[in-house]
Amino acid sequence: RRRRDSRTVRDYIRTIVDFPHEGILFRDVTTLFADARGFRMAVDQLLAAYAGEDIDKVVGLEARGFILGGAVAHQLSVGFVPIRKKGKLPGAVISQAYALEYGEAVMEIHDDALKPGERVLIVDDLLATGGTAAAGISLCQRLGAEVVGSAFVIELPELGGRALLEGLGHEVHALTS
Ligand code: AMP
Repeated sequence: RRRRDSRTVRDYIRTIVDFPHEGILFRDVTTLFADARGFRMAVDQLLAAYAGEDIDKVVGLEARGFILGGAVAHQLSVGFVPIRKKGKLPGAVISQAYALEYGEAVMEIHDDALKPGERVLIVDDLLATGGTAAAGISLCQRLGAEVVGSAFVIELPELGGRALLEGLGHEVHALTS
């Protein structure tokens, strides 16, 4: 008889030391996405966390949030909306700047991508300082949408992302840390 596979989502995530800079432990989810069982487990667990919630759209944050968010949206039979780095979206956009460790970045959403009152779930692979997610939430809210929650595969609690988002009154869910 075959042994049951007891690997958890966390077991499929690989850590790459000193990428993209010295001192960074990069949590690589490509090994999770590449495994049929791992990918399904991650998507199913994100869905389970928001079961029973009314969700009109899934919003994915560039780039790995597209992979997860697309799968979650498909499973919920709702639309998917990308939030991208500055200059990538072809239509009219609204922009939100946010602080990085060094300098600043800008995220954008099409200005007609969400309707006032729509309930959205934000999805990304990883929550670190929370700056990216906070910018994403803000973009959705500026279009009048209601953010039901922000869902991640992995959070790095020591970087304060959950504290930041929860301090702003937002719901946060991560599958592992
Ligand atoms: P933050 O805005 O600090 O919460 O950073 C979150 C974004 O940066 C996400 O889109 C992540 O994919 C990426 N990121 C930040 N830190 C890491 C890390 N240690 N490993 C992998 N991705 C990271």
